[in-house]
Amino acid sequence: MSNTLPKIAWIGLGIMGSPMSENLIKAGYQVTGFTLEQDKLDRLAAAGGTAAASIAEAVKDADVVITMVPASPHVEAISYGPDGILENAKSGALLIDMSSITPQTSVDLAKAAKDKGIRVLDAPVSGGEAGAIEAVLSIMVGGEQADFDTAKPILEALGKTIVLCGPHGSGQTVKAANQLIVAVNIQACAEAVVFLEKSGVDLQAALDVLNGGLAGSTVLTRKKDNFLNRDFKPGFRIDLHHKDMGIVTDAARNVGAALPVGAVVAQLVASLRAQGDGGLDHSALLRAVERLSGAQV
Ligand code: NAD
Repeated sequence: MSNTLPKIAWIGLGIMGSPMSENLIKAGYQVTGFTLEQDKLDRLAAAGGTAAASIAEAVKDADVVITMVPASPHVEAISYGPDGILENAKSGALLIDMSSITPQTSVDLAKAAKDKGIRVLDAPVSGGEAGAIEAVLSIMVGGEQADFDTAKPILEALGKTIVLCGPHGSGQTVKAANQLIVAVNIQACAEAVVFLEKSGVDLQAALDVLNGGLAGSTVLTRKKDNFLNRDFKPGFRIDLHHKDMGIVTDAARNVGAALPVGAVVAQLVASLRAQGDGGLDHSALLRAVERLSGAQV
């Protein structure tokens, strides 16, 4: 029987894109992918997808193009120009950008794509690498209702909570708020960890009981072992959270919202990065608190 599901092109097979595209393959979709690393293309092929040699080759027959790259400049690089998605995808295709970027980049992309007959949704995600592997991501979407309805069955293979938040850029605005909450939460957990250890309390026991009360959080559940084992393999890199704190502080300034605690945590993330820890998981905010508390880490 022929496959009647929409044909998918996937651009950006990193920490998130690889497991997400594999979940689409498991759900029965034909996925053709392109990314910069050969080993990730080999991984896609081994999972049952098709590796393409360029963006143009990946998107030319696709009904739906999904992108998952680091930041706004990467989204612009893969979307625009003679080799980009807008020039090479079919008219009528749906472009779902799942990267976390500035809301304005998403608005501009939707406008530019409309001229080419390509529909766009911004659909950034929360839930981390584990959420991507387990297909339980939260997906915050901006764009038109009809395009959301088309995308919904595909997004349901990737996540559990899928919400249309408003017009183009709204998904990115909600994601920026998400990153604010996550960074502040990690910082509070990191401060608690250093306080508890210096007080001589059994850290494992303390974190277990804290996670059962009002102080509990998905951050604590997902990052507890990182704190306990000082395991900062990413996960979600400090470099990316630095980018996201820039997005949220800038967007908040534009609308006149004050983020006093967020601004301090943005500086702590920037400082950690400046000390050479940008490639570590964001739970490495613990290292910043340890240094402030006199440890040589
Ligand atoms: P990553 O660095 O692991 O992967 C990015 C991928 O984009 C790489 O494979 C790279 O080859 C590809 N890429 C970059 N430029 C390209 C180009 N010109 N053409 C083709 N491919 C290109 O990043 P990630 O952790 O997977 O994050 C991707 C996005 O998802 C980011 O916006 C990030 O903020 C967001 N995000 C990440 C997490 C997480 O836990 N890692 C969680 C939620 C959201």
